[in-house]
Amino acid sequence: MRCGPKPASLPARSRVAYIPDLMAATTAPTAANTDDIDRLRAIGREFHGRGWSLGTSSNYSVVVSRDPLELLITVSGKDKSALGRDDFVRVDAAGRPVDGSGRKSSAETLLHCTIADLVPHVGAVLHTHSVWGTILSGADLPRGAGRGRLRIEGFEMLKGLDGITTHDTFEDVPIFANTQDMTELAARIRGDFAVLDWSAPGRPPCHGFLLSRHGLYTWGRDLAAARRHIEIFEFLFECVARSRMLPAGSHVQQQQQQQQ
Ligand SMILES: [Zn+2]
Repeated sequence: MRCGPKPASLPARSRVAYIPDLMAATTAPTAANTDDIDRLRAIGREFHGRGWSLGTSSNYSVVVSRDPLELLITVSGKDKSALGRDDFVRVDAAGRPVDGSGRKSSAETLLHCTIADLVPHVGAVLHTHSVWGTILSGADLPRGAGRGRLRIEGFEMLKGLDGITTHDTFEDVPIFANTQDMTELAARIRGDFAVLDWSAPGRPPCHGFLLSRHGLYTWGRDLAAARRHIEIFEFLFECVARSRMLPAGSHVQQQQQQQQ
């Protein structure tokens, strides 16, 4: 029996305070994309409750059309704990609204569009602003550098990322220097991702990236997979950050030294 970490598949009672009821989203036959909207609203409530999407931070999207590419994404500046059905807008591959609602999409819309365009089989893109992700993304970007990496290695929970089947591996999470110029940032990410071989057999090359002192972007084949990736990454970020706070050497090693 597989013992890998799939928190979303744990018995519902064991995580009742956190698991959004993704399957219970209500439908409104008169409104397009209402199922997707209600699932994204549940994501907002959950991520706010877990401290990953406080205030108006974060943004979420699902791919609603592949040809042409169109995304349903959160409207700019909305409190993620209380997203309403009108707090979403449909945009094209360039991030322009196409639903005639007149709503303004998230300032980071272009990053969602870039990911959906570049990464094969992406059905949803999620972005969070957690404490641990913010701290690590600042700590592991060399001063003055435009790009760094956060290495996460040897954790069982890595198996929660699609395609990883052993703890004996690592994930190098790219870190990009933050900016308010989304066109420039999207171009930087596109240039970085363009050299990745997404069809490589075995371990997928990348499940997400960090913006320095800002937050995490990850994705999945559907919203449930993207949500799981957020949960796995946030767990791993906290493990890495807390591990760095421990004194040098393991507890066992310290005990052995004291006995000598
Ligand atoms: Zn952000």
